Amino acid sequence: MKKFTADYILTSTSSPIKNGSIVVDDNGKVLQVEDPQNLTAKPQQQYADLKAEKLSGVICPGFVNTHCHLELSHLKGKVPAGEGLIEFIKNVQKLRKTDDAEVIEAAAKADEQMEQNGIVAVGDIANSAVTASVKLKSKLYYHNFIEVYGFDPKNAEAVFNSALAIQEQFKPLAASITPHAAYSVSKELFRLIRKESDDKNSMLTIHNQESDEENKLYRYKQGSFLDFYDRLGLDISFFKPQARNSIQSIIPLFSNRQNVLMVHNTFTSMKDVYFTRRFDRKINWCFCPGANLYIEKTLPKLNIFTHHGFNITLGTDSLASNHVLCILKEMRLLQENFPYLELENMVEWATINGAKFLGIDHEKGTIEAGKTPGLNLISGLDRMKITPETKVRKLA
Ligand SMILES: [Zn+2]
Repeated sequence: MKKFTADYILTSTSSPIKNGSIVVDDNGKVLQVEDPQNLTAKPQQQYADLKAEKLSGVICPGFVNTHCHLELSHLKGKVPAGEGLIEFIKNVQKLRKTDDAEVIEAAAKADEQMEQNGIVAVGDIANSAVTASVKLKSKLYYHNFIEVYGFDPKNAEAVFNSALAIQEQFKPLAASITPHAAYSVSKELFRLIRKESDDKNSMLTIHNQESDEENKLYRYKQGSFLDFYDRLGLDISFFKPQARNSIQSIIPLFSNRQNVLMVHNTFTSMKDVYFTRRFDRKINWCFCPGANLYIEKTLPKLNIFTHHGFNITLGTDSLASNHVLCILKEMRLLQENFPYLELENMVEWATINGAKFLGIDHEKGTIEAGKTPGLNLISGLDRMKITPETKVRKLA
């Protein structure tokens, strides 16, 4: 058993607790959260004599990283930065092929790095089952999103069936089938995914408006994607311009029973956000600022998402488009670019909101007696704002 006290405890379920203390058992299960200002709730006598480790900073729940690609970890530092999404995709396709041993070794290191940086659960995109052995041994919780792409409607069935086979290989780990992006998944393939996830009530994620070229393709059937398909030898005469942004065309393809995580949203407009609100769909938004700056050198218009009561989550994306897998670093980038953001809100995005999306909020995401959320110490804050000196340390 251990007892910690800190300047503040951010539980992600109540207001910040000043000078609060937490008791956890050896497995990290929270036994008691004590608020010295709350005189009605009596702390349990059995923990009263336990000597507390006094910490300077803020304790918060373990982080939930809702967007990663563990199987791309071996591409760290290999893909040139700042060249835009299409060049990025081409580079990843060219560079990712290597032997499984290299992929597994890099994935294991990345898994360890996430653990050290206080991440306890991951929504991880997978195009193969190569990372299954790493995840089975990991201390982190993984939900695997088996990602499909196929813009050519003729291939929908075959692509979908091979994803089902990969899902089998991940057992007993949690897995669901997920579309890659609006520009790489045909309506036919969307329908197969919809049916599958509707039957099983499973969640899905999609890379959304990561580049403005995606909107150009959908609005006018113009832009760099045409050249991209051309080079792939794909005839897209079946695709008609939709006169609206990509997200507005794909929202109707999801069912209202699926929890959908829109990832990136770098080129999502206010009109798009209002459009999604008019639809009866369970839309969640995930932001990966580190990857956006790496690939497109730009950030989403965060303020258009924050006032609608949406479930907002954070992700690191992969080491192909980020220097480190660290949720605190993603929060630091947001704080630098959107100084009005409050630590308390960002911690909720980084913890309970991700846990809710992944369906693990009974266990993770908040500091409450009975849960095993993981505990992080955030130190080096300047009046509750994240600075370059702010660090995270895993306590439990
Ligand atoms: Zn991604």
